[in-house]
Amino acid sequence: MSQTRQHFSDIVWPDVASYWIGNARVPLSLLAKPDAFTPQDREDGAALLDVLIENGRIARLAPSGSVADQQPRIDLQGRQLWPMLVDMHTHLDRGHTVVRSPNISGGFSDALKATAADRLKWTHDDLIARMGFGLRSAYAHGVSAIRTHLDSVPQQAERSWNAFRDMRAEWKDKIALQAVSLLPIDLFREEWGDKIAKIVAESGGILGAVTRAANAGGHGAPLDDLDALMDRLFGLAARYDLDIDLHVDETSDPRAAALPYVARAAIRHGYQNRVTCGHCCSLAVQPEEQADRTMDLLAEGKVAVVTLPTANLYLQDRGQGRTPRHPRPRDAPPWHRGGRGRRQLPRLFLRLWRPRHDRYVAAGGPRAASRPSAGRGAGAGRSGPGRHRQARGARPHRGGCSGALDRVQRTHAERDHVASSLRSHRDRPRPP
Ligand SMILES: [Zn+2]
Repeated sequence: MSQTRQHFSDIVWPDVASYWIGNARVPLSLLAKPDAFTPQDREDGAALLDVLIENGRIARLAPSGSVADQQPRIDLQGRQLWPMLVDMHTHLDRGHTVVRSPNISGGFSDALKATAADRLKWTHDDLIARMGFGLRSAYAHGVSAIRTHLDSVPQQAERSWNAFRDMRAEWKDKIALQAVSLLPIDLFREEWGDKIAKIVAESGGILGAVTRAANAGGHGAPLDDLDALMDRLFGLAARYDLDIDLHVDETSDPRAAALPYVARAAIRHGYQNRVTCGHCCSLAVQPEEQADRTMDLLAEGKVAVVTLPTANLYLQDRGQGRTPRHPRPRDAPPWHRGGRGRRQLPRLFLRLWRPRHDRYVAAGGPRAASRPSAGRGAGAGRSGPGRHRQARGARPHRGGCSGALDRVQRTHAERDHVASSLRSHRDRPRPP
């Protein structure tokens, strides 16, 4: 029996252990033996397949239409079928605070200040509301596993880890959640280091820190006792048998060079294959030879590196009155020349982006990539943190989204609030 549906979200998944997902377009790069399947749409780099699901797992792949049996069949009509996504580095506890604590300059140190100020509001309920919204958004976009760092400074850690444990239990059937402690590494000099390692161990978490000092405001040259601090952290990790995930050198200051310290500690403590480092931005601005030496050490220590282009292209090397940088007016395309034309840039971006996005939505949106056995819409919120349904009568912001993506849209009211707070800052008189 074949079903044809207009929208992916309309598909009724058969309530049986075994069924076919037919006419699925699967990228060749995801197939172990791509040449085994025809027809292939070479232009799209995809094969048209039928996928047999048994007990929630892929049991068989076959060229589309090549198997005739009596199993129930869902017709994807050539839509893309992908594995779900893994988000390796997030901060669920810091998410969705921009409305109340905007980082107006957009720079790194103001981001730290905005977060520190906002942290005073992180009650259990507030954390649950914001983490929940982040998880619903991720789920609606096809994410099945998330590692989140949790601010783990004194006065905050226990609340954040409590909220995390609650969310992990609530989401266990939809998103696998891991948490990592995040605190300046010099706090490990103190008793707090033992306390936090214990909380992490009792929560089944991962031991983490940022390789700069508390209240430093940013990264500079590594701390004098960084080797000793690494030994302390690795010692605690070994005592509780914990993996390690560190925030390292998140700056465009080439003096920040904590990465080799981490690699040497991994080698010293026999912690190969158990350490991850995130950000590592300064590596990109250090002399070639120095970067090569560091990368050799990382390879020897079998340290994994996670880069965060979306965060760091935004945060790094911004300066007020300097960023964003534009080409000289003579060479610039019209939308770069300031005045009215400059305001057209977002519009142009939207125009370029929308057709792709609309095709994506037409192809079923994020759920096209989700595990068929996952419950439909169970976690998907509609309009903002803490709201599971769109308020009655509230108008969703028409940003080119439809279908499943409506679930993560902001309402007009929320969008206008952000816009007006940014506007009032912009219109403030500037010093001469
Ligand atoms: Zn981070």
